[in-house]
Amino acid sequence: MRATLLFYNGPVLTGNGDANALAVANSTILAVGQADDLLDLAGPQTKVVDLGGRALLPGFNDAHIHLWKVAMLLRQVDVRPAAAPSIEAIVQAYATRAAGTPPGAWIEGRGFQESLLAERRSPTRYDLDRAAPDHPAFVTRTCGHIIVANSRALAAAGITRETPDPPGGEIDRDEHGEPTGILRERAMTLIRQVAPPPPQPLLQGALVEAAEQQLRLGITSVCDPGVDEYVLDAYLALERARALPIRVDLMALRFTPDGRRAELPTPFARDRLKLDTVKFFADGGLSGATAALSLPYRNQPAGSYGILYHEPEAFAEEVWRVHEAGLRVATHAIGDRTIEMVLDAYEAASSTEPGPPVKPLSPAGDRRHRIEHFGLPTTAHIVRAARLGVVVVPQPVFIHSLGRSFLTSLPETMLPQLYPLRALLDAGCTVALSSDAPVVPDNNPLLGLRAAADRTSADGVPISPQQAVSVTEALPLFSRGGALAEGQADRKGSLTPGQLADLCILSADPRAVPIEQLAELRVEITVLGGRIVYAA
Ligand SMILES: [Zn+2]
Repeated sequence: MRATLLFYNGPVLTGNGDANALAVANSTILAVGQADDLLDLAGPQTKVVDLGGRALLPGFNDAHIHLWKVAMLLRQVDVRPAAAPSIEAIVQAYATRAAGTPPGAWIEGRGFQESLLAERRSPTRYDLDRAAPDHPAFVTRTCGHIIVANSRALAAAGITRETPDPPGGEIDRDEHGEPTGILRERAMTLIRQVAPPPPQPLLQGALVEAAEQQLRLGITSVCDPGVDEYVLDAYLALERARALPIRVDLMALRFTPDGRRAELPTPFARDRLKLDTVKFFADGGLSGATAALSLPYRNQPAGSYGILYHEPEAFAEEVWRVHEAGLRVATHAIGDRTIEMVLDAYEAASSTEPGPPVKPLSPAGDRRHRIEHFGLPTTAHIVRAARLGVVVVPQPVFIHSLGRSFLTSLPETMLPQLYPLRALLDAGCTVALSSDAPVVPDNNPLLGLRAAADRTSADGVPISPQQAVSVTEALPLFSRGGALAEGQADRKGSLTPGQLADLCILSADPRAVPIEQLAELRVEITVLGGRIVYAA
């Protein structure tokens, strides 16, 4: 068989011995080895690429990125720290958007993190009222677990001082009992029920743009961990039109952002789009102090332990139903209290009669349940996750991008167990790395790699450096890790013959550059299914 594409003269990171050449035939890898042997596979039609010392890796798999939210942020008001470093800048950005928006139409934005704002406080309804008095408007905090709505939006949602906190949610109030506009966790559904979804053409166009951005980062696969029927429709339309630039694994939300209980999905697996996982949220985030902890947060109102979304028995019942239907379960669980509840539910489900296996695209696909984030597990939790075969999906880049707020709000005694990659690998856990963008502004996997290896916040403070792992250890967790988490490791994620030719070429070998320079490496070529889809 002839190669259609052949790379030689650079390190090929198989993770298993040295190679300096890789041959592709159509959509899959034909051979990996030494150039002397592989160059014979080239014919007159073969595209031959001289790596010139550049490194060839499996395409990255961001195992947890809210691609549709990244996409919508391309169209919404961007108030991430780089764009809006103060509340005044947020007000200005909303005022500018309001000036070009018909009165009464909704305005949505995302990205603030109060610890990085000049005023060191969260915006309130009154700030947004100043910016957009004639529009219902709201802004989502960077974590996605807190929103701030203006008075028009609160009125549209019927939120008054009389409105009780919904289960699993909190409506912040001032000393007179008046809502401040800050809505936490499931209280956000009150706004989402009345805010209209984006038109399908806008959503689909933004999704394509966001997916193309991933190719520039060397990312060939992502998991979008939470879509409702409307977003699923957008993905399906793109897949049918063969317009999806990357491979996407979807998780169907069991409870939608507007508070409905969705039907269990029908699983499917196509070349670029797959769905066989149901997603639950079980708590909030650490940077916003809503993840459920066994110890109180610091620098928060006294007795703040975070928010647990479910009663343990009710949650176990939910998990069992999904498990029994033959679907994979993935649960957002960050705090130690939450992780305990989720492991209990997974263990109970797997000790009952197993449901029918997922029908994967490939026969070796399996159905290991996942825990997303796994931010503050105890040693016992880690041992249990390894024993149960649960796939854990942490975000080392949080150490970099959210480190400042972790240092401010976490109980000091818990910092050593924060995103403990070293302990996870030592215990034999299956780990897939990811970014959780747009929770972080930059989902460059090289930034995540650097954070996994140096455990340093963006402002230069080391955070439990004993939990660092080497670049060599972390690299496969950004490719094969995601494939394992999806149940598709027999199909992609490794540089072995027969696997999909999803590749990326970096300007240098990431194992050979100083850790602090990792994020400066350039992605020069991205290959998906044997075709060059991006070249710098
Ligand atoms: Zn997430």
